[in-house]
This record gives sequence, structure tokens and C-alpha cells, in this order.
Amino acid sequence: MRVYNFSAGPSMLPLEVLEEAQKELLDFQGTGMSVTEISHRDKAFAPIVEEAEANMRELMHIPDEYCVLFVQGGASQQFAAVPLNLMHTGKADYIVTGNFSKKAWQEGKIYGDARKVASSEDKNFTYIPDVDKIPFNEDSDYVHICSNNTIFGTRYVKFPETKKPLVCDMSSEILSREVDVKKFGVIYAGAQKNLAPAGVTIVIARKDLIEDPLPVCPTMLKWKTQADNGSLYNTPPCFAIYMANLVLRHLKKLGGIKEINKINEYKAGLLYDFIDNSSFYTNSVEKPFRSIMNVPFVTPSKELDEKFVKESKAAGLVSLKGHRLVGGMRASIYNAMPVEGVKALIAFMKKFEKENA
Ligand SMILES: *Cc1c(COP(=O)(O)O)cnc(C)c1O
Repeated sequence: MRVYNFSAGPSMLPLEVLEEAQKELLDFQGTGMSVTEISHRDKAFAPIVEEAEANMRELMHIPDEYCVLFVQGGASQQFAAVPLNLMHTGKADYIVTGNFSKKAWQEGKIYGDARKVASSEDKNFTYIPDVDKIPFNEDSDYVHICSNNTIFGTRYVKFPETKKPLVCDMSSEILSREVDVKKFGVIYAGAQKNLAPAGVTIVIARKDLIEDPLPVCPTMLKWKTQADNGSLYNTPPCFAIYMANLVLRHLKKLGGIKEINKINEYKAGLLYDFIDNSSFYTNSVEKPFRSIMNVPFVTPSKELDEKFVKESKAAGLVSLKGHRLVGGMRASIYNAMPVEGVKALIAFMKKFEKENA
């Protein structure tokens, strides 16, 4: 039996996509081989990468002056790739709004003067600092942010206007809402939250920014290496790219990002409204900054939180345990989570409240 999976990542994929992959798993388009068995140099494989890139461009309206890369190493590898490709003068600004942006900042410090120019750690990352009041440095090579904070359940509603290229970790919200790519120098995202199985990472970078990586930058981490080779410099994560392409096709069929965003807002609205109208459950994020992808919440006690996680699992609602830094529960409701999944969660929450309040 399929369950509703609220995992923060790797996470749910659309059922139709899994079924399609299953259908052609043993024989990919008449080749008599699985897509996981063919060479990345095979002429059956090249169109997959090309189509995935074209679909990304179409869905996110990515202009020609940006490259779209499929790389490995996860978003965490990009924490190093960003300074190694961009930190020419050895200085950069970082906004720290959660665990991952903090890790990105700490990684940046290995390579130069990575300066934390704003942070929301004073209130346990329950808000996003006012982007109009941040004292950005004139001499920075770039400004780094994380647009959706997976663990703490916050997101930027407005992006900072920066003179220097804005670099954004969008791992847990890419393709969930419309963004103006032109506002960013670089966008990167591990695919396992909203796009594909683990193993592939998307990098969208303005072409003029990738020309001059630091001399110490490893060949594999140079965005230019991948851009010059159509993401096929070495063996790419073939299956993950294939799956990403199926998800992108599926998203196009649903009407694109504008349409999925309406559904995402609706799903998150149902859950937040229910939590706000309950005296049993709490979400401590400041309302304007609430993520529509990751919704952390608690019951009145740690014991009840534990009981909730156990009983919800038995009811077919899995992976609701919160991150250890926050505790309680977290419902990750990415693009692939159907409205019925959120409704089933709310029905369970009501029942649990009745039995335990
Ligand atoms: C999950 C996540 C990461 C880490 O991704 P990996 O692919 O595991 O390295 C980084 N940033 C954000 C915002 C995430 O949600």
C-alpha cells in the first residue's frame, strides 16, 4: 500500500512518474536495455539531458544568458563550488537563516572572508531578516542566501536587491513558485526535495560568472567544465536526470509553475489555518515568512509529539518526525504531495487532538 510520505528529502515523487519509469524500466524506448544500463554517450541518452535542460528553461523562464547544469555532490558540494567559482577577491556576504545557509557560510570561510551580514538565529530561525536593512559590503564578490529553510520552515517573500550577484540555494523549493531568474547570479538545488531522486544537483548560472573560477578550483567543481560539456564531462547521474525529466514533463502537463504554486499555496493554507485555529498545535514561524513546502509544528508536550509520530505512521502518514534541531513534527508538502495527503494529515491531527487534549 502506498502511504502519504511527508519526508523532507528524499521525498515523494508523483505517482504517474513512478509508474512511467516502472513501465519502461526493463526496455527503454525499444533499446532492450534499462535507462540505467545504457552509456551516457549512447545516442539514446543525450536527448534526455537536452530535454531536461529545455524543460527547466521553459518552466522557469531561464534566459539564454544562463547555463543550466546537472551535476553531482548535492547542494552541500555547491557550498564549496560557490566560493571556488566566484570568490575572486576573497570576500563574500552571507545571510544566515537556517542550518543550510549556516553551513554554506562556514564552507565559504574556508576559502576567504565570508561575512555573515544578517542572521535570524537570535529567534531560532523563525523569521527572515528585513532584506532592505541589510548592510551589504561594497567589496563582496557575491551575496549568498537560502530561499526556503527546510528545517525551520521559513521562506523569503521578497529577495534582497544586491549590487553583487545574488547566489541562492533553492533546494527545498525549486519549481514550487515562480521566481525571476534574472534577479539571481546563480541558483542551485539538490534535486531530491522537489524534482528527482537523490544524486543530481541543478545549477543555473549566469554565463559571464562562470568564466573565471579560482585556480585551485577542482576541474569537477568548475561550472564551466560542465557548461562546456553539456553536463556530460564525466558520467552524470543518468537515472536521476532521466527521472528529473519525467517530473519536469509531468509539471508541464499540470500547467507549469504558476499552476503548481496555486495548489501548493492551497495545501499549505489548509494546514496553517487548521494549526492556527487549534489550541493544541503550534507553528512558531512568524506568519509572513511561513514556508509552503515545510511546515513544522508541535503538540503541547514532547511525549505527545512522540506519540503523534508513532500513531500517524501507523495511520499511513509517514516521516512526520521533526528535525532534531527543532523537535516536534514537520510536514514536508512538496509539489508531489497531493491535496488528499494534506487533508488526510489534518483529519488525523483532529482525531489525535480529540483523543489527547
Ligand atoms: C537538503 C538541503 C541541502 C542539502 O542537500 P544535499 O543534496 O544533501 O547536499 C542544502 N540546502 C537546502 C536548503 C536543503 O533543503
